[in-house]
Amino acid sequence: MITVLKQNATVEQRDQLIKWFEDQGVKVHVSVGEFQTVLGLVGDTTEIDMDMLKLLDIVADVKRISEPYKKSNRRFHPEDTIIKVPTKAEAEAEPGDVEDGYALCGGGKFAVIAGPCSVESEEQIVEVARRVKAAGATMLRGGAFKPRTSPYAFQGMKAEGLELLSIAKKETGLPIVSEIMNENHLDLFEDVDVIQVGARNMQNFELLKALGHTNKTVLLKRGLANTFEELLMSAEYIMAGGNEDIILCERGIRTFEKYTRNTLDISAVPALHEMTHLPVVIDPSHSTGIAAFVKPMALAAAACGADGIMIEVHNDPPRALCDGAQSLTPDQFDEVMDLVAKVREALK
Ligand code: PEP
Ligand code: MN
Repeated sequence: MITVLKQNATVEQRDQLIKWFEDQGVKVHVSVGEFQTVLGLVGDTTEIDMDMLKLLDIVADVKRISEPYKKSNRRFHPEDTIIKVPTKAEAEAEPGDVEDGYALCGGGKFAVIAGPCSVESEEQIVEVARRVKAAGATMLRGGAFKPRTSPYAFQGMKAEGLELLSIAKKETGLPIVSEIMNENHLDLFEDVDVIQVGARNMQNFELLKALGHTNKTVLLKRGLANTFEELLMSAEYIMAGGNEDIILCERGIRTFEKYTRNTLDISAVPALHEMTHLPVVIDPSHSTGIAAFVKPMALAAAACGADGIMIEVHNDPPRALCDGAQSLTPDQFDEVMDLVAKVREALK
């Protein structure tokens, strides 16, 4: 916490305030500048009443500088967290990283999560799973419970969709990623390796608390209008319950721009890397909403040091029940993977 003194504060008043802080058990670093004096308080300042301090005649401003997120904060955990998701699939191609039976994400290890927006049939999910695995994906995604803007739109295959994902997992060995919308569904997610919390549920605090008591990796997507700090506070809800296996996902935010579905905030990667030790993946599909833009944004993600990408791939995008316009065909996905592997190679 820092306290900025007004210019007219006398030395006696300043020393009196310093003594008061010291009596509260905090150390005070005094920095006397040409125009203002700043008191830096070090130690446990939680009991100090900021509002009361601001009312003092000699105080110009009071600011807390320690962040409210603790467990996810890089300050208290300088090393990158590497998330390990058990897999039965060997990496068949670059750029996905698989080692010793784990798909890895974070600390230089790159995760490739790919698959359709929604699971639609056994043939569809198994075919897409085979193709994305062959191209270098390390995890299979597929929505079973879909958060749709319209209640009349396809809502997902629900429990049956999760069963079909399990079949695709058995066929390919790929770990599976699927979105949960209601904590009462947790039992259905037993075989799901990574539980996704979608953008719309980033601040569903009861859901986050429930996930904090599981041992499942959570893919936490940034909300449509949420700050990095809010994203980390949501991660904190999960971590406070004891579950520290979290992958953060930037999926674009709402801005005034309407040409793309959302605005991909690529600076989320360096910013979050500075703020937190948790891995950060980019979702170029939902952030652009346009299949042709997925390749350049996936390359940008790899180039700027993201810990992975999540891409929607459909065997027949024009007939997809959800998000066809942003879905790649398996052939297009092959090409993106080749190029992402080249970008990663160039950075080594
Ligand atoms: C999704 O990944 O299918 C999804 C619904 O994403 P988001 O929550 O980012 O909109
Ligand atoms: Mn989608």
